[in-house]
Amino acid sequence: MKCKVCGMEINEKNYNFNELAFINKNSEDNIIYCPFCGAGKKYLVESDEIIKVDSNLLNENALKILDHAVKLELFNGDFYTTAASMAKNSEVKKVFEALANIEKFHSRLHQKLGGFTKTPNLNKVNYDKYNSDSALLELAKQKEEHAVSYYEKYKNEVNDHKLFEIFKALADVEKEHIILVKE
Ligand SMILES: [Zn+2]
Repeated sequence: MKCKVCGMEINEKNYNFNELAFINKNSEDNIIYCPFCGAGKKYLVESDEIIKVDSNLLNENALKILDHAVKLELFNGDFYTTAASMAKNSEVKKVFEALANIEKFHSRLHQKLGGFTKTPNLNKVNYDKYNSDSALLELAKQKEEHAVSYYEKYKNEVNDHKLFEIFKALADVEKEHIILVKE
């Protein structure tokens, strides 16, 4: 099985990766999420028909939107890594770790889509003042809401319908994260 959004091959060895980043769980005979990018069942196919974006066909604006998306997801991924190290509850810690993997994967996906070769070197943000699990979860919710609104706004501004579809799929992934960090 393949994920149309990120192109990853899903098999019996990896179907349960990042399990804690999802509300429902994949099982070997019922795979409902891509364990890498989080895309839902409708994006998982048995064929090779993955969504291919040709970065040469993207205009300046779409490339700028993708460049920003690389950074947005990287900031969020770094946040989750830090939040995982700060969280006191072990379950919350594991959820943050799984979310860090997914968001960093999204960042690399955008990098690939835009044909960008360099990973940006972002400033480290200090999250020390979020010194309780509930404060970290609240900030996580805000970051996910921001990501959803980013994808929903800019999916209409990119000049490529395949990229539109990818943004739509990722908006759904981040919407589920909002629910996940609220629980
Ligand atoms: Zn995927």
